[in-house]
Amino acid sequence: MLAEIITIGDELLIGQVIDTNSGFIAKHLNKIGISVYQITSIQDDKAHILKALKDAENNVDIVILTGGLGPTKDDITKKTIAEYFNDTLINDVSVIENIEELWKHYTGGLLLQVNRDQALVPSKATVLMNKLGTAPGMWMEKDNKVFISLPGVPYEMNALIEESVIPKLKEKYNCPYILHKTLLVYGIGESALAERIEAWEDALPKHIKLAYLPSLGKMRLRLSSKGFNVQEVIDSVQKEIDKVIPLIKNEFAGFEEEEGSVEVVIAKQLNKLGKTLAIAESCTGGMIAEQFTAHPGASAYFKGGVVTYSTESKINVLGVLREDVDAFSVVSKQVAESMASNALKIFQSDYAVATTGNAGPTKGDSEAEVGTVYIAIATHNGVYSEKFMLGNHRIKVINKAVNKALEMLLKEIFKN
Ligand code: ATP
Ligand code: MG
Repeated sequence: MLAEIITIGDELLIGQVIDTNSGFIAKHLNKIGISVYQITSIQDDKAHILKALKDAENNVDIVILTGGLGPTKDDITKKTIAEYFNDTLINDVSVIENIEELWKHYTGGLLLQVNRDQALVPSKATVLMNKLGTAPGMWMEKDNKVFISLPGVPYEMNALIEESVIPKLKEKYNCPYILHKTLLVYGIGESALAERIEAWEDALPKHIKLAYLPSLGKMRLRLSSKGFNVQEVIDSVQKEIDKVIPLIKNEFAGFEEEEGSVEVVIAKQLNKLGKTLAIAESCTGGMIAEQFTAHPGASAYFKGGVVTYSTESKINVLGVLREDVDAFSVVSKQVAESMASNALKIFQSDYAVATTGNAGPTKGDSEAEVGTVYIAIATHNGVYSEKFMLGNHRIKVINKAVNKALEMLLKEIFKN
């Protein structure tokens, strides 16, 4: 089964709103064995919508549209769909009841005609009731192909996908089981990794697809397979995972599908050890701390962090010695290591990580080359650091430094 996702909205084409709907829908379709053939973003324009529908009908079995169902007149999707299906719009009683109910609870006052009009749906459509908003979802069939139109508001669309669309698609189609297993790999570049696992990759069975997903100092290696025998799919992928992990045993951090990310792996290990973490950041500006606090339960192991961006704050807040700054510069092994050691003491943690570097584009407080970053790890056994040259693009330097810090921390906490 193949699907196309069409997201509608002028705002998407001028970059004002980033299309997050199609990624969400693609993930859910994939889980039930429906492959996405194409994702398209188009304008709120009748001719454009008609053309996109026609193209999609030629290519796929399932077309999912989002957006263009709002009450204002720039949203012409519904009329266009009715035209495409040679249909007329009729008033759906259950939708008007839903709109009245929502109005009573959340808005009050008089129901506007434009909102009443949201109960107009093509007569051939099956309504997918939107309990979170006034625009209904619609399901239509033509020559055994399915067309689904959903509101653009992400949380309304999400609910309709999970509660109506996916169950209905599962009922209609007998889809294969699709499995993705993504290995989180740290501390090795894409080319080096490819070379290391070349023989294994060459011997992979045809039905298992491999993808390298590198991003700024971390790698994801995804194995995908599908089939109608669920156990067979799981076993065949597991067999290959068991062969590849020994080849990357120092770099493998966990599975994205299970752990989500490396900071979750670190968090779990810290909890298991009953140990705590503190963070002292300069060039990463709080981003390392944010990686941890973005996940619930961080308070169990995360003692705290500071962003000592200026030289003065490194001295006054963290107690870095001015002599060290003068002798070695603020971007140096000595300063990184004393930031980490002092954070360990101040926060009374078991581990501390510190960053100091020059993300560019200009040199700032230090003479260090743009892209120079020192990352230090302190524990009760001492402190050490590494120097990295992370290039000359500011965002890249910062993100790579965050990932390098996580990588060093990961190695340290799994030492024992
Ligand atoms: P109207 O303009 O008639 O009020 P609308 O354009 O607001 O309707 P939709 O097209 O259903 O109604 O979209 C609602 C909102 O959802 C948009 O303003 C936009 O912020 C958001 N949105 C739409 N499409 C997407 C998308 N593909 N990804 C993320 N957000 C989206
Ligand atoms: Mg719109």
